[in-house]
Amino acid sequence: MKSQDLLNSVSGTSDETEFYTPLPEGYSLGQTKYVVITGTVMSGLGKGIFSSSLAKLLSDKGLKVAPLKLEGYLNIDSGTLNPFRHGEVFVLDDGMECDMDLGTYERMLDMDLTRSNFATSGQIFTRVLEKERHGEYLGRDVQMIPHVTGEVKMRLRELAVQSKSDIVFVEIGGTVGDVENAYYMEAMRELAYEEGPGSVCFVALTYVLEPKTLGEQKSKAAQLGIKRLMEMGIQPHIIACRASNPVTDKVRQKIAQYTNVPLEHVFSMHDCESIYIVPSMLREAGLDFEVIRMLQLDQRINLQRERQAWLEWCDFNDKVNSIKNEVNIGIIGKYTSLRDSYASIIHSLEHSQAHLSTKVNIQWIDTTSINDKNVQNELKDLNGIIVPGGFGARGTEGKIACIKYARENNLPYLGICLGFQMAVIEYARHVCGIKGADSTEVNPHCENAVITILPEQKNIEGLGGNMRLGGKDIELKPDSIAWRLFGQKDSVRMRFRHRLEVEPKFIDTLTEKGLVFSGVAPGQPIMQILELAGHPYFIGTQAHPCLTSRPLRPQPMFVGLVAAARNHAYPDRNFPNAIETVDEIMQQTEKSIVEA
Ligand code: GLN
Repeated sequence: MKSQDLLNSVSGTSDETEFYTPLPEGYSLGQTKYVVITGTVMSGLGKGIFSSSLAKLLSDKGLKVAPLKLEGYLNIDSGTLNPFRHGEVFVLDDGMECDMDLGTYERMLDMDLTRSNFATSGQIFTRVLEKERHGEYLGRDVQMIPHVTGEVKMRLRELAVQSKSDIVFVEIGGTVGDVENAYYMEAMRELAYEEGPGSVCFVALTYVLEPKTLGEQKSKAAQLGIKRLMEMGIQPHIIACRASNPVTDKVRQKIAQYTNVPLEHVFSMHDCESIYIVPSMLREAGLDFEVIRMLQLDQRINLQRERQAWLEWCDFNDKVNSIKNEVNIGIIGKYTSLRDSYASIIHSLEHSQAHLSTKVNIQWIDTTSINDKNVQNELKDLNGIIVPGGFGARGTEGKIACIKYARENNLPYLGICLGFQMAVIEYARHVCGIKGADSTEVNPHCENAVITILPEQKNIEGLGGNMRLGGKDIELKPDSIAWRLFGQKDSVRMRFRHRLEVEPKFIDTLTEKGLVFSGVAPGQPIMQILELAGHPYFIGTQAHPCLTSRPLRPQPMFVGLVAAARNHAYPDRNFPNAIETVDEIMQQTEKSIVEA
């Protein structure tokens, strides 16, 4: 169908039409290409990892890519989701609270995303209902097809126009059989029809089972899962088979045969050491050029650019594999039984680990039973600790006991958001002698509330999307540790997600007793970074530095922690101190990025 027909069908100039395909201004059909990634058999297999790795390979070749994650749930964003069930809530610079996969894209593509890269059924339906109230459907009964599906395609195409992308990567959360995904799948089928041949590449991610009792790989679940996709009118072009071990030729053949996908497009994406190896796996299998061929993008690529980008990436991968030292870092939290709730922290440690050739062994410490008496024993094998972000009162006394121990025993410490607030409480109680110092979130009736609700948060009702959110500048105090960590710049930008802050009336007392607030919000008395002089590494921030660590540009606060932990683990090796090490690493990474 021609663009004009589609436009007519929405503007009402054509008489009777079954089409409802609004096109954003400036959109031209068939110009933008799409890669659509769906999952079968089960969710949580790493669609985002596959998709972002493929997107990286294509972006390295000079193509402009933009990811869009489509979630089936009715929540407007991920802000109200329990990280215990859904993994961490990732926060974008513009304040969008979204699925953790957006973090995977940001890290893999080294790119800041925005709210237009994330859609939920809640957002789609809100838009449809708003339009209905404004009479925009011209007397029609509003239906899943074509109106809701039309709105989904609109989101994709708006992103295409806005980002001027060559390729939009659409990842559909969950699996193809989910009821809430049915209209997304239909929208994708329509998209392929409207954009025309050579415009949409469908990738099905599936899972090949290997039951212990049988000792061999079985393809039936994968076959049936993909069959479900085909029943919806979608013929996949590429099948990525997740599995614990490399998928055997026999199994690949069965899947190929059953799904009409050429064998060379059935790809084994088995478990590997690090997700950062996945781009190499895809590249070796030639999937990047396969997609370029399918989508007829040969004329738009720049191989010179790819060579440089690839060298840089391989250099990072070499670092991942060349480990010389080892440290133990404890993550002191509440959701320690589900690693996904701390995904960004784990990634940040991985980035630092590679740049420092120092393996970070993460130990999960549940604080609910820690106190001043047993803390030494609990932390005895650690070379550094992190108290991560969190909400609520559970386990906070244990966290404070850990922070006190770290402060008094020169154990490197990084406090993130709640971990920053807990460090302030610890200092207030034990150094400043402020009795009953606490946070109003933990104890609303405490004697001295050193952590209180931000003034702008006081009158907010409801829970969704209304914390102090997103990227904000932090003014750095000259000559402080933070200032040195961030390359002696006046300010640094980090991302936030909180409701409480250091109560301004206690700032003077805390400062007089030696706590240094080395980062503040410009023009506001909101404390953002704290540090202690005379300690090997004791630093905290109200922000979430883990959200902006990237493989080739590790986040300095994490590099500092791992460097300090290395000194703690090997006191006789005379490594330079943490700040000097960060300086050196940051200069190296800046240099390689400039050279590239
Ligand atoms: N619960 C604290 C607040 O709302 C900390 C939030 C966090 O750690 N993300 O300020």
